[in-house]
Amino acid sequence: MVNEVLSPYREAVDAVIEAGGEALRQCYQCGLCTGTCPWNYLKKFSSRSLIHQAQLGTADFESEETWTCVTCRACVARCPREVAIIDIMKALRSIIAEMGAGYMPESLRVTLKNIAGAGNPLGEPAENRHQWAGDRKYPEQSELLYVPCCVSAYDPVARRIAQATAAVLDQVGVPFGVANEPERCCGESVRKAGNESLFAALAQHNIETFSRQGAGRLLTSSPHCYHTFLNEYPDLGGRFDVLHYTQYLAGLLREGKLKFGKELNIKVTYHDPCYLGRHNGVYDDPRELLRGIPGIELVEMDDYGPDSICCGGGGGRIWQENVKGERLSDLRLDQALATGADVLAVACPYCLLNFEDGVLTTSASIQVKDITELVREAL
Ligand code: SF4
Repeated sequence: MVNEVLSPYREAVDAVIEAGGEALRQCYQCGLCTGTCPWNYLKKFSSRSLIHQAQLGTADFESEETWTCVTCRACVARCPREVAIIDIMKALRSIIAEMGAGYMPESLRVTLKNIAGAGNPLGEPAENRHQWAGDRKYPEQSELLYVPCCVSAYDPVARRIAQATAAVLDQVGVPFGVANEPERCCGESVRKAGNESLFAALAQHNIETFSRQGAGRLLTSSPHCYHTFLNEYPDLGGRFDVLHYTQYLAGLLREGKLKFGKELNIKVTYHDPCYLGRHNGVYDDPRELLRGIPGIELVEMDDYGPDSICCGGGGGRIWQENVKGERLSDLRLDQALATGADVLAVACPYCLLNFEDGVLTTSASIQVKDITELVREAL
């Protein structure tokens, strides 16, 4: 009954309590999640309070805070009660997305509309999806399918990731294809923004597209696609062998099939993307790849591996505005600069965009490169 009294969205509050389920009851309000959250370096954000409000049935659907979480998983990894904090955030957002209750950031609303209409967050035509590949022709059927993600397919800066990856695979002599009928957004941001029905439609389209082409293995550039294809598509019938490109290339390196011909002679620091590291435990392959490149000295930042700080792009945040002074990417950029590295290496298109923006606005003297670009340079 407390819901009736305290919330104008009683039905919605009930749905959050149901979505949180046993997990929601487990929270004993220790506050470790809030203490762990990287936002605390920059502004006040209390995941503990949000969980408490959800427990009490007083969730505030008008609050901007619901959209602050970057789903980096730092809190989930440390919560002593194993509360599914991200699922609870997702449930809060899903009420807003599907019942139209409360506030949603305008930029995210536009992004979701673009994805629903054009199949990608930038609202670009589907027929331009493979423009990054130039005139290269791909086979009709292919066991290994390279899926570059919407950002590296369309964004003029991030496109270099897709181009470098294809060039490396070509140079090593690996036969691969791309989706004949352009794939759509993997739906990771969509799901984290709470739009389950749109996520299901995107997944269905992609699963059918990949299957029609005989794909057994999917190779991704984005850890967000990797996470979604690997962990979420199987529930919808999409069972593929999914690899992030750093895993695949590290495997080729171990087998002696990836051979370098050039020394780069640079100091590099590596930023662990949350959806590769904390969400999926992939910490070693990217480092093995970097250490395998002749002339690279790999140095770590203060926070790295499981303690790495999010670039600020997860949980749909990449599509939202972050005012100056409240950018996690700038915080991370400072850590990278403190290592004295020449290059900040990334393995995610969102990280690349966020750090490139940071370098542009702060004139930081460090280059941002995806690992696949470094591999290409050293071949
Ligand atoms: Fe609750 Fe876990 Fe956060 Fe502690 S760390 S307040 S138990 S959600």
